[in-house]
Amino acid sequence: MDLKSLIRDIPDFPEPGIMFRDITTSLQDHQGLSHVVDHFVNDFSAQEIDYIVAIESRGFILGAPLAYHLGAGFIPVRKPGKLPAQVHVVDYQIEYGTDRLEIHQDAISQGSKVLVVDDVIATGGTAAATTKLLEKFDCDLFGFAFIVELTALAGREKLPDVPVHSIIQY
Ligand code: AMP
Repeated sequence: MDLKSLIRDIPDFPEPGIMFRDITTSLQDHQGLSHVVDHFVNDFSAQEIDYIVAIESRGFILGAPLAYHLGAGFIPVRKPGKLPAQVHVVDYQIEYGTDRLEIHQDAISQGSKVLVVDDVIATGGTAAATTKLLEKFDCDLFGFAFIVELTALAGREKLPDVPVHSIIQY
């Protein structure tokens, strides 16, 4: 299927000069949604993943059905102040200033195999920050899955040496 034709390009969103790759149009199409989920189920079903770690907020949309089909648990990485229990925190640089992500301290049991999921990898800063959160646990980071990869920004170079899967590249 031509998934790229289902991604909507919005110029100058959220700021001038950014070409926003809007995945919502691919997910509102029932064939697009199943294509994306099935693609990653096929990629990772043999890996015995214990947890999908999904990044707020569009990572949640893909992460939950993927976790269900892989027989894995679902763990949200959230923006500050959203998680109610004790959290690990990471601050990271964005273009203008810093941002913060959080994960529950008791989210991942020892020795678990973890797959990180988000909709888009751009500069890789968000996924790299998520890696820092996972370093707080004694877990095995198996790899990363993104629907869209913006290759010119070389985000995957910020990530550790593990498999990084993307379905569509720009
Ligand atoms: P990154 O630069 O890899 O840290 O991207 C941060 C987050 O912003 C990702 O989780 C994406 O969901 C989103 N994002 C960044 N750039 C784009 C873009 N051009 N189109 C759509 N989403 C984007």
